[in-house]
Amino acid sequence: MSVNPFETVADTVDTSPKISDEVKFTTCYMCACRCGIKVHLKDDKVRYIEGNRDHPVNKGVLCAKGSAGIMQHYSPARLTKPLKRVGERGSGEFKEIEWEEALGTATQWLSKIRDNDPRKLAFFTGRDQSQGLTGFWASQFGTPNHAAHGGFCSVNMAAAGLYTIGGSFWEFGEPDWEHTRYFLMFGVAEDHDSNPIKTGLGKLKTRGAKFVSINPVKTGYSAIADEWIGIKPGTDGLFILAIVHELLKSNQIDLDYLVRYTNAPWLVIQDEGSEDHGLFARDDDGSPLCWNKATNTLAPALATDISPAIAGSFTLPDGRTAVPSFQLLAERYLSEEYSPETAEKQCGIEARTIKRISAEIGRVAFEDTIELDVAWTDWAGRKHDKMIGRPVAMHAMRGISAHSNGFHTCRALHVLQILIGSIDAPGGFRYKPPFPKPAPPPLKPAGKVDQVRPNTPMPGPPLGFPTGPEDLLVEPNGQPRRIDKAFSWEAPLSAHGVMHMVLNNAWKGDPYPIDTLFMYMANMGWNSSMNVPDTIKMMTDKDEVTGDYKIPKIIYSDAFYSETIPYADIILPDTTYLERWDCISLLDRPICDADGVADSIRQPVVKPDRDVRPFQDVLIELGARLGLPAFTTEEGTPKYPGGYPDYIVNHERGPGIGPLAGFRGADGLSEGKGEINPKQLDQYVENGCFWRHEFNPTERYFKHSNKAYLEKAVDLGLIGAPNQIILQLYVEPLQKFRLAAEGHGDIQPPDEHRDRIKTYFDPLPIYYTPFEEAISDTNTFPMHALTQRPMAMYHSWGSQNAWLRQIHGFNKLYMSRTRAKKMEINNDDWVYVSSPQGKLKAQVQLMEGVNEDTVWTWNAIGKRRGAWNLSPDAPEGTKGFLLNHIISQLLPEQGSGYRYANSDPITGQAAWFDLRVKIEKAGPNKPGELTEPQFETMKVSSTVPRGNPTSRYGEKDK
Ligand code: SF4
Repeated sequence: MSVNPFETVADTVDTSPKISDEVKFTTCYMCACRCGIKVHLKDDKVRYIEGNRDHPVNKGVLCAKGSAGIMQHYSPARLTKPLKRVGERGSGEFKEIEWEEALGTATQWLSKIRDNDPRKLAFFTGRDQSQGLTGFWASQFGTPNHAAHGGFCSVNMAAAGLYTIGGSFWEFGEPDWEHTRYFLMFGVAEDHDSNPIKTGLGKLKTRGAKFVSINPVKTGYSAIADEWIGIKPGTDGLFILAIVHELLKSNQIDLDYLVRYTNAPWLVIQDEGSEDHGLFARDDDGSPLCWNKATNTLAPALATDISPAIAGSFTLPDGRTAVPSFQLLAERYLSEEYSPETAEKQCGIEARTIKRISAEIGRVAFEDTIELDVAWTDWAGRKHDKMIGRPVAMHAMRGISAHSNGFHTCRALHVLQILIGSIDAPGGFRYKPPFPKPAPPPLKPAGKVDQVRPNTPMPGPPLGFPTGPEDLLVEPNGQPRRIDKAFSWEAPLSAHGVMHMVLNNAWKGDPYPIDTLFMYMANMGWNSSMNVPDTIKMMTDKDEVTGDYKIPKIIYSDAFYSETIPYADIILPDTTYLERWDCISLLDRPICDADGVADSIRQPVVKPDRDVRPFQDVLIELGARLGLPAFTTEEGTPKYPGGYPDYIVNHERGPGIGPLAGFRGADGLSEGKGEINPKQLDQYVENGCFWRHEFNPTERYFKHSNKAYLEKAVDLGLIGAPNQIILQLYVEPLQKFRLAAEGHGDIQPPDEHRDRIKTYFDPLPIYYTPFEEAISDTNTFPMHALTQRPMAMYHSWGSQNAWLRQIHGFNKLYMSRTRAKKMEINNDDWVYVSSPQGKLKAQVQLMEGVNEDTVWTWNAIGKRRGAWNLSPDAPEGTKGFLLNHIISQLLPEQGSGYRYANSDPITGQAAWFDLRVKIEKAGPNKPGELTEPQFETMKVSSTVPRGNPTSRYGEKDK
């Protein structure tokens, strides 16, 4: 008799053995997604990690990275004690010191700076999830030189969204997974919003909604798309605007939506050469005007009892002409410049495909309308019986953002969504609280001349949203005031700072020398820098006269022995994410979803077994030692002696508003705002380490204009007033910068920046060829080169993880099979990849799903040999490589000899994906071939214990 193999397995395998003697809830930190987890412990050791089924982010789903958190926690690369450099920078020669010496030295260095010129401290963090604290600390210290890694990640996406719709994708918003019938995804980074996107795509596929992926590479999410459009990198903006062209031509625009919720009817002054040309016409109170068709008169644009015109040309009381902003928009995108036939030549996508996609969008948006039987009231008190939606949703991330034309591309995508009326409508894009906020949020960066003074906090945060030249951080002569040149004429709207320029500028002393570079979780010595070889030189270069390092002092905090550690002078060893308190705050990047507001915590599930401290505790202690007002009592004692958990509970940013919004008030029953609750953390722990408030059905859509939602948002402390959030098709602040460049106003750019500002500060989205492509010899460098994260890795942490290394131990250069055939390149051949910046050698992997003019590879797999306590023979070092080595952080000299950053001219976003390369065969394959360039093998400090990571962790517990 045959045996059923499945029954045999069921009989003999215990699929649910008892594996732990304790289970603790916390939040995953293996990527940016912040899923809830249950950590199973046995004998005080982490035995198993499981997804928390009740958690709003992941609902129990756990990815490969999340499960492999055990190997992160027990990594042999963990730092074990504070270190002080005793050899030359880069030598890896350190001595172990006590925390008192480490903190004493840091305090001594930092107090001297604060006593004299706080700007001499540059404080930059990487994948830090405590930016609510780090930004506040910088402001208290008094330095504007602070940002996290957003400038080289996706600030184009964030800034374009925040200036256009008061929200954006990823943590700011999500597709309406339940109702969308047509979903377009542009160039998404696979490591962001990972589990929610995966579960969302599962829902879409189950319902049979169409999923179109526009991406040069068909991997990850794109691999399950119903249609893949292998666009040429950097041309997405033109593709999107060609769709706008088609929708305008076919009249598939939601005009009612535009009139109610956007600035489409607002009149724009047409008076070329005048100081207000291109600005909105306003009444004496400064309110925008429109043309009321019912009375044929001017009317306040925010009035509700009028019939505004969105096309035409009208005369203002002073005799000048003004037109609705929609008129300008329609004129621009109906021109041939944005036709599918023009786009075809640039994007490599046939015009008929663009026309078909446009028609599909139009059909689904206007013929497959969704009606939810939910009555709601808009901001003006108008009652609506139903919620009517356009079920077309879009999502995008770094792929379209990390180009020098990325801001306008991302804005174009939001404009497209506005035109079809799908922003926060059922079936479309949905805001996640605390968004929407006014577009842009009413927060200006601090750091002007009178805002930076010795021993004085700045009056506001270092990052914000300028709305005109008067908000820039520039000297009277127009030179930048920040070390990264954020909020200067080089990158006026750099809402996340320009971290990738910090080392270069600090090394050059441009715009001024700094004293101390203080970094947290930022692997600037390797994969977080463009142009790694020069970056290493900048950290080690000395002044020929004084013999001192050109960047005099570097303090660095991290949990692991990364490639950056040997270049720091003092190392403050951090814990792993399983050993500390953390706060995933609404003041930073929370874990909300479109149907609810939420935040969460991490609690220590195990005690550190090394002499390490959570960085947030260290920062708070440094704040007290330095006497920063918010971290010190009036008596001069530490205000938060209990460290970060003490701060999380007791710090108030405004009356009743603290880092956590849940379980507030003396009884723990208040939400959003409320008195301090000493038991708040206990209540979070009891609730699985998160808090969530679910919205009523009437509050869930049209949040930008929904009275019930806006009032709720005020009650919860998410926004200041329940005013309508107007969607900005036309971004007036951009025109203000342009007018300054044309010679108007008191604050104007230096002459060398005028043309650049005039060209790129267009209040309506434009398309232009990415800078590197525009200035390169495209015959010499005919191909695009991209990197992307694999789903199983999150930045450089992942590729040192004993389990995850088995998925991606090294990376190859992926290339189109068709293109390779023409070049006589075969699978596994070694090739040279050259750019105007440099050359590297890598092994080729051929594939079908990639744009023929594009090569790509996984990022952050390649490691410097010896780093992360990996063996010098580890494949990550011998066969892995970084594309960063051949990307320049600067553009070539242009005219005046000045070199701009290789960045978007509006936000300063690093243009990683503009890279142009040529590919050449490297000769016959030889055994033992290594990737190039190879750097000197990194010497890991003798103070870091050697260890053998085991992939059979826990086997002995069986
Ligand atoms: S998606 Fe990110 S946060 Fe969620 S389990 Fe995976 S690694 Fe952790």
